Amino acid sequence: MNMANVDMSSIFPSNPVDYMKYVVVTGGVLSGLGKGVTASSIGVLLKSAGLRVTAVKIDPYLNSDAGTMSPFEHGEVFVLDDGGEADLDLGNYERFLDIALSKDNNITTGKVYSSVIEKERRGDYLGKTVQVVPHITDEIQDWIENVAHKSSDGENNPPDACVIELGGTVGDIESAPFVEALRQFQFRVGKENICFVHVSLVPVMGPVGEQKTKPTQHTVKELRGLGIIPDILVCRSEVSLIDETREKLAKFCHVSPEAVVSAHDVANIYHVPIMMYRQGVSELLASKLNFNLPKSSKLLDEWEVMANHVNSLEEEVHIAMVGKYTGLSDSYLSVTKALQHASYSVGRKLVIDWIESVNLEEEIKSSDSEVYKNSWGLLKEADGVLVPGGFGGRGIEGKISAAKYARENNIPYLGVCLGLQVATIEFCRNVLGMKNANSAEFDDDEENHVVVFMPEISKTHMGGTMRLGSKPTPFLVDDCKIRRLYDNKSYVDERHRHRYEVNPELIEEIEDAGLVYVGKDETGQRCEIMELRDHPYYVGTQYHPEFKSRPNRPSPPFLGLLKAACGIEF
Ligand code: GLN
Repeated sequence: MNMANVDMSSIFPSNPVDYMKYVVVTGGVLSGLGKGVTASSIGVLLKSAGLRVTAVKIDPYLNSDAGTMSPFEHGEVFVLDDGGEADLDLGNYERFLDIALSKDNNITTGKVYSSVIEKERRGDYLGKTVQVVPHITDEIQDWIENVAHKSSDGENNPPDACVIELGGTVGDIESAPFVEALRQFQFRVGKENICFVHVSLVPVMGPVGEQKTKPTQHTVKELRGLGIIPDILVCRSEVSLIDETREKLAKFCHVSPEAVVSAHDVANIYHVPIMMYRQGVSELLASKLNFNLPKSSKLLDEWEVMANHVNSLEEEVHIAMVGKYTGLSDSYLSVTKALQHASYSVGRKLVIDWIESVNLEEEIKSSDSEVYKNSWGLLKEADGVLVPGGFGGRGIEGKISAAKYARENNIPYLGVCLGLQVATIEFCRNVLGMKNANSAEFDDDEENHVVVFMPEISKTHMGGTMRLGSKPTPFLVDDCKIRRLYDNKSYVDERHRHRYEVNPELIEEIEDAGLVYVGKDETGQRCEIMELRDHPYYVGTQYHPEFKSRPNRPSPPFLGLLKAACGIEF
């Protein structure tokens, strides 16, 4: 066949871009500006232009991964399919872009140094002095380039674009090697293939609400001093930037006024991509990165419908979340998101009543009866109860009491991971009469162990040694609520992160009394999903279904909780 006459586009679908496109998102002034949401929203704009998008998060800390970090300091640990324990921003990318990332999509100083030191020991740099520049900076660039080409769409298609978010604030000592690597990277991939976006703060001061540009001027100066010239400035502020502010920033920061984007407060995060689109960010990206924009985008239309739907919800549904709190709501971010997704689907406005589980315990009753009363008041008023995952014994008795209350009063209950274990302990104590039933995690007396340590788990190493990542769970019962919620599938594939499990020796006795483990792992030994007979909704999962929830595809166990909480039949 003469290939010259063949229309190649009929054989190979045309690619929207010739080379991988990179968008680097850095941040200045202070942390917590919503860099993650900005980066994810840029991803949505690229996706809406027909590009397949993947994402990389750089965390400049020395930990290899987020697995050993406290969620109360750093926010939740997000678990990936391959068992990677990552920064919560990877969850934002997965939810916004509907992709599945791998542990390599989260780069940390710890990982980069480990890899370089391993190479040095192997002799790969023989004869050379191993240094931050070029060895660490090369390692970072190689890592980014490799992972950017890795498929994340679940269908093995290679990505066209990669959004890279650099954690921390530009100017930090820790992030310096990454900034330098990214500076060099623009020459490696070609300037037409990389776009730098800097997220900054425009505070509003004084009686007339003047928009202050100085913090942004300084952070851009710092970034430029490090050799990175931002193409787009995203300015977080309470209210929309006025033209004067835009022009001033453009003048002082060496960008065009059109490239100064206002990221003001909006009613919900789904408005952010639309807000950026309306300010011409898609055009800016397309002209910098050299790709074509479609005339309209179904994806953005859907985002707009969703953003407006979320705004329109009025009738409330109250879910009591019984956990450990230190004021950082990010510690339960994916659970919160999964509840929100389910609430959009049932058309209700979600109200989470946060209950510190210790405050449900008898001891508080004597030391602070008011707090005890209020906490129980919140629990009793709620339409549904959720006990999320957790580690350590503090507040465990309060969680057990909440599970008991929900079971006895026909209140919809969802227990995630620890929440399943807690419900099992409660059931053994109060239904099977095993008065001291407990978990090996909280009680050393083996006699009491209805939840036991899993044999394969390390007792000496904490990092990356739990039962982690996606594992299949076949259903063992033909008809039950939770299986119906999963569209009667024969098995589910959800993500795990735990060290303990229900004692296999007790399963039969527990099941005979009505608490049925309707899904077990493929060996048939390990309990994965529980459902109580003759209860509107009393479900627990040893896995964490929240990690796979999507705004338009709520996680089935969460949807069940919300449906039951709203009295919707299913
Ligand atoms: N601490 C329990 C375990 O390790 C539960 C873990 C969790 O909730 N993620 O098994």
